[in-house]
Amino acid sequence: MTEVVYVGLGSNLGDPLTQLQRALEELGNLPLTRLIKCSSWYRSAPMGPQDQPDYYNGVAQLSTALEPLPLLRALQQIEQQHQRLRERHWGPRTLDLDILLYGDQSIDLPDLRVPHPGLYLRNFVLQPLAEISPALQFPDGSRLAMRLENCPSEGIVRLSSGDICGTTG
Ligand code: ATP
Ligand code: CA
Ligand code: CA
Repeated sequence: MTEVVYVGLGSNLGDPLTQLQRALEELGNLPLTRLIKCSSWYRSAPMGPQDQPDYYNGVAQLSTALEPLPLLRALQQIEQQHQRLRERHWGPRTLDLDILLYGDQSIDLPDLRVPHPGLYLRNFVLQPLAEISPALQFPDGSRLAMRLENCPSEGIVRLSSGDICGTTG
């Protein structure tokens, strides 16, 4: 059974845009998985510790037959391939891959919460999501448009327009 999954990508170290572009390719190369769409990249000030570079973020839409936990492990492997180190909470990183949505499932496991707990609070996630799936509705029935209205929109810059991975669907 395949599901539509949204993955949030973030980077603020080691040439972030190159990290993100490579990560997109790696997502598309995961087993049983296809990259459907990706957003523009967005730049925003860091969350948490301010003594770190700005972040670059985007969202990818995948279709996958990987179950949620195997998908999470696969994303963590990609992070490790990018030499990600976990030093401090919300500290700088070469690559962060979060599962934002997994079909319309709600998941509450020790290692995996979906929808991602930060989803509704983060403009650098909601704005790219709206770019690729403006009519999206969340598992609790709320609409993306409503969530966007309730999320501060400042401090974020969209870097390029359109579908930068060159795929459609
Ligand atoms: P945040 O989760 O607030 O964006 P972060 O991305 O910096 O912070 P990490 O250090 O990357 O946090 O991840 C911490 C843990 O979050 C991971 O070990 C993972 O098990 C867990 N986790 C829970 N839900 C998810 C999810 N939906 N996607 C990715 N990781 C998740
Ligand atoms: Ca994150
Ligand atoms: Ca993460």
